Amino acid sequence: MVLELLFEYSASSLVYDKVLSRKLQESNLDGRLVKTDTEIKLYVESQDAVKLEEFANDISLELPHSIFLKNTEVKVLETLPESDFVLEKSKKLPLSFCPSCLNKVLDETSPDYYNPFCECEVCGYDADGTQKNYKTEFAKIANSINDGSVVKVNTFYGEYYIGKVSPVCNDISFDIVSYDLASISKYTNVTKTETVALGAIEKPFIGLKTNLQFKMDFEGVEEELIRFKLADDFILHLTLEELHKLGVNFLFITKEKLEYQDEFLIVDVKKTLEPIECVVSEHNVIILSGDKGLPSFELSSEPVVPYLGTFNSVIKEHDFKDKTVVGLNMSKDYHNNILVYGKKFGLIEYLSFKSEYSSISEIFEVIASTNETGAKLLQNYKTEFSELYEKVSAVSFDDKELNIYKIWGIISIILGYSKTSDLYESADKLENNAKSFLGAKGPRIDYKLQNIKSKVYLDPLMVIRTAMTFKLAGVDDLCLSYGVVESFVEFLAGQLDEIKQNMSNDVVVASGSLLGNKHLFSKLDKEVSVNHELYFNKELPVDGINIKYGGNDLLNS
Ligand SMILES: [Zn+2]
Repeated sequence: MVLELLFEYSASSLVYDKVLSRKLQESNLDGRLVKTDTEIKLYVESQDAVKLEEFANDISLELPHSIFLKNTEVKVLETLPESDFVLEKSKKLPLSFCPSCLNKVLDETSPDYYNPFCECEVCGYDADGTQKNYKTEFAKIANSINDGSVVKVNTFYGEYYIGKVSPVCNDISFDIVSYDLASISKYTNVTKTETVALGAIEKPFIGLKTNLQFKMDFEGVEEELIRFKLADDFILHLTLEELHKLGVNFLFITKEKLEYQDEFLIVDVKKTLEPIECVVSEHNVIILSGDKGLPSFELSSEPVVPYLGTFNSVIKEHDFKDKTVVGLNMSKDYHNNILVYGKKFGLIEYLSFKSEYSSISEIFEVIASTNETGAKLLQNYKTEFSELYEKVSAVSFDDKELNIYKIWGIISIILGYSKTSDLYESADKLENNAKSFLGAKGPRIDYKLQNIKSKVYLDPLMVIRTAMTFKLAGVDDLCLSYGVVESFVEFLAGQLDEIKQNMSNDVVVASGSLLGNKHLFSKLDKEVSVNHELYFNKELPVDGINIKYGGNDLLNS
């Protein structure tokens, strides 16, 4: 009898490939590994069903979860397949510890007990240092932290300052390392799928809303997302192991130079790496930033058109060169559009989100001069919110081109949500409002199209106008902000359905830092997946533009 274990998984670190092939070797069972671009299948044969069951259980204990794992299946077959797969002797990527090494480090009878330099062919950082039992040292550092010390520490991937979450955090930007997932779920709004991602071997950061009292005198703490992760190397893990015994389950961690009372520098930091940050929807995980554990990508030597770079990077990562692809480009920083690419017709900009206004008074003027309703709307706004009208009329911006995020910034200012005239900060405020909304539905904001010189653009003024109308109707800040974000996603889903009817595209790809908004990402993933195959970047950050995938080859095709 043959057992087939299927893993829908592909990542450059080859963690699954390595663990599965190691387990197969150790088991002395007859078996095969078969690998394609998107999955690995492990086949094992035995006459003894109990042995096979034991093997499968063993695998499930030793195989870490990964953010790159999409699905698993188990089947029973009659015979082994013919083909076999030879594991490449690839270079190891710097990854957090695997379950097998963790067991060794926490096992009192193991020679690697409390040895942070323990690693294997799957995991670790190839760091230099003296291999020994450091239990006394870790206990000492934990005591010092528990007494209130800030500690300068070398992790395996960089220099940091750590300590107990305290008023020290008031003046710095910091992240949180947690002892375990249970502590995170107790103090944050973490979802089930986020919890699974946090526990993965990549140990990503995830931005969460927390009710922990971190910043005592900080204004607006309830709106701010704080990044949480589990320990991603043995220095942090063993420190937290000791702190947990003292009743401490969270550490702040920062790169900002702080005054410190103690230090723990047993590691020589060879190369500094930035831990990855992820955003998680019901079915997908995307990488927002960071490089730890990811393959390195060449920088482009040619000038890169940002939206082409990101669009092309998703096509390359999924090998869609021969398909007809529709791309949503939604960066906070660059040009936004919907592109269509096909082998026969090349590349088309189907819809542009570009607009050019230099001040709010200019926007007001155009709204008032468009038609009677526009003039009346502005008059009502002026009467109702005269002070706000005076204030925002003075706001100007020197961005050459406005995109969706900047339009949201302008709306945030006009509706009086933002205290600044900075478009990014203002848009951020609107996003935070939307995140804090607890209802199910916001007002319907009009995202409509307009033709200018036979090209199709989004009409930003209609978006602004409907938002102003709802403000005048007394819709509250959180609900209205939610409507602005929600209606945009619904608009996109509608556009994609229409494009599919016209272009019969095979897939839709989405990229850009706006996907970092968890609400937008989840809703987009859910709504668009109903009628389309939707893909995101795999191992590249969603705004990973400065890479070799400049997109020029798409333009030339
Ligand atoms: Zn290991």
